[in-house]
Amino acid sequence: MSELFTSETILLREGLVIDGLGGDPIEGGSVLIADGVVQEVGLKVSCPDGARIIDCQGSSILPGLIDAHVHVGATMVDFGNQSKLKPSSLIALEMAGRLRHMLDVGYTTVRDCGGADWGFKEAVRKGVIAGPEVIISGSILSQTGGHGDMRHRGEPGGEFVDHDTFGMIFSVADGRSALRRAVREQVRLGVDFIKVMASGGAASPTDKLERAQYSVEELSLIVEEAERNGLYVAMHALPLVAIRQAVDAGAHTVEHGNFLDQETAVYMAQHEVALIPTVATYVMASRHPEKYSDPPEVVAKIGLAAEGAMSAVESAYRAGVMVGSGSDLLGDEIAWLPNEHVLRAEIVGPAMAIQAATSVNADILQRPDLGRLAPGCRGDVAVFVGNPLEDISILARHSHVHAVIKGGSVWCHVKGQ
Ligand SMILES: [Zn+2]
Repeated sequence: MSELFTSETILLREGLVIDGLGGDPIEGGSVLIADGVVQEVGLKVSCPDGARIIDCQGSSILPGLIDAHVHVGATMVDFGNQSKLKPSSLIALEMAGRLRHMLDVGYTTVRDCGGADWGFKEAVRKGVIAGPEVIISGSILSQTGGHGDMRHRGEPGGEFVDHDTFGMIFSVADGRSALRRAVREQVRLGVDFIKVMASGGAASPTDKLERAQYSVEELSLIVEEAERNGLYVAMHALPLVAIRQAVDAGAHTVEHGNFLDQETAVYMAQHEVALIPTVATYVMASRHPEKYSDPPEVVAKIGLAAEGAMSAVESAYRAGVMVGSGSDLLGDEIAWLPNEHVLRAEIVGPAMAIQAATSVNADILQRPDLGRLAPGCRGDVAVFVGNPLEDISILARHSHVHAVIKGGSVWCHVKGQ
């Protein structure tokens, strides 16, 4: 650890403790953190000599938030063109700024679903830059003409060059040997999981949202190659046909899943495939079409995806699917982070919205040391002024951040709150 982060003994005193696991909130509860981990949680906790005390009256003490679907490297909404408009140095610095913003508003872990490479993970780990822990998939696998192929129809065909776009990186690969090589290359680059575009999406120029991408055979091969290397595969899939293919191929998570219906949700639950919905990005974008310079067909695709997003989440919960939480916000949309929680709470209530962004996300990410306030878990805590069970919109809202602690280090503490 660099001097940016020094682990301390910290007593968070007398706030509303929300454990992230769905337990009853503890009014006037305290949390003790030492040696980088949570030591005690409850009404009576010890106060070791020399502990730094953060008074939490009027505030709520939560596990550090987890965002299971971000693109740190999408520094513009129009990310497909950002490398033509900005130098790599600016994009890299903006990415550092985005990470810092997320830590500032209470996120202590983010899972980057394509774009951030090993350098960002390492920069945070070493304390070179401030940010949540970054779990990476590196370059996103896409078929030719798929959701990761950013070429417009007027551009020449042939090979799409890997790492063409700094900040948002894609590996366009088709067929057995190219896909094996693409997965192995990501393994070589130290990724934590593999991300695949298994259907069309909104932000790409030539593909159709309602179509599956890759054959089941190709998707299965990606899973086989990833699993042999100890990695799971997250599959971007919006339409039913693609969600089914993802389940059949052995996906660990379906990302977005906007058009999920009840029957397919049951199919996901039976196969223990988790869903990471990203409601805010679609719903908020559809409410603000003026922000987009995209061609009308892209804007129309966003509207379509927004319509499905809310009911997909409802179906998933009803079927017993494990439902995590991701924001997927691009560029300055990052200001909409609180909306992911607000929209989720509209569907399942605030308590389950909080659980999704803490312990459920941690479990999906295979990180049971995160997302809960329980002895032995990493000392990640977010303290917000107010009670998110009464007003969920305070989560991830800069004006309501009282303190953020990551790995037992106080990142920020707004005094007098
Ligand atoms: Zn995404």
